[in-house]
Amino acid sequence: MDIKKVGVLGAGAMGNGIAQLAAHIGCDVILRDIKDEFVERGIKNIDKFLSRSVEKGKLEATEKDAILGRIKGTTDMSQLKDVDFVVEAVIEDLDLKKSVFKELDELCRPEVILATNTSSMSLTEIASATSRPDKVCGMHFFNPAPLMRLVEVIRGFSTSDEAVEITTGLAKKMGKITVEVKKDSPGFIVNRIMIPHMIEAIKIVEEGIASMEDVDTAVKNGLNYPMGPFELMDLTGIDVCYFVAEYFYKELNKESKWASPNLLKTMIRANKLGRKTGAGWYDYSK
Ligand code: NAD
Repeated sequence: MDIKKVGVLGAGAMGNGIAQLAAHIGCDVILRDIKDEFVERGIKNIDKFLSRSVEKGKLEATEKDAILGRIKGTTDMSQLKDVDFVVEAVIEDLDLKKSVFKELDELCRPEVILATNTSSMSLTEIASATSRPDKVCGMHFFNPAPLMRLVEVIRGFSTSDEAVEITTGLAKKMGKITVEVKKDSPGFIVNRIMIPHMIEAIKIVEEGIASMEDVDTAVKNGLNYPMGPFELMDLTGIDVCYFVAEYFYKELNKESKWASPNLLKTMIRANKLGRKTGAGWYDYSK
């Protein structure tokens, strides 16, 4: 299947990185968000990333212009009507994702694969909002999407082999290493492992066992992880960690190990969501 035009829904942290990747491999991209300012912010981020690549000598200035030239930002959903492949990257809210998939299903050609970048949610449930559950597939990028090498390709109950193959092919063309998640299960592989380590890190601080700086230092130097759990939460968004933990708690039999610590809830209530709000566990205002 020749994918020439890709639709990306959501121009936030993940959506703009995915749009950049698609444009980099030569696809035309329609990047849709709900407000002009969100679309503009997304395109500005892509511009910033590409400008840094030019400064580092990794990209020609003409290539940067060509990549940006292939991305069209819009708030108008109908612009996605003639795309060949869609990646949805709106916020992690199941009802929103289902309503977006219903809209996409009505808008896009019947053979078009509708992929979701959900971090944790049921592919089968998202697919149930469409008349093409065989063509709904998980395409889970990691943050920042242009740099992180992994993409998890996830099957819902009805996802076809062909949809997995096409999605895997597109991810590989973007230079990614892919893994297949054969069963629809909360958090797939990486987040199923990552969220408990974040929850435990918060509990260690909450219980006064160690400071968050020391937890980060311990994990980086004792486990050889590139980032500590608090640094990683600030990068991915503390709200994303919270939504995913709440979802696991609900879906995985309310086991106490998935319950959000109070300190995590307080961070959400204080709108300290990490780098994107200028402060999270650490301060980024300076
Ligand atoms: P974000 O909040 O940065 O961006 C989401 C964007 O979606 C916002 O700009 C919002 O305005 C937009 N949006 C909301 N409703 C929309 C609609 N109907 N149509 C188009 N756009 C709409 O969120 P994010 O961090 O980019 O996360 C997006 C998705 O990717 C989520 O499902 C998340 O779980 C997943 N994800 C996030 C990370 C991460 O580290 N942040 C990593 C992997 C996957």
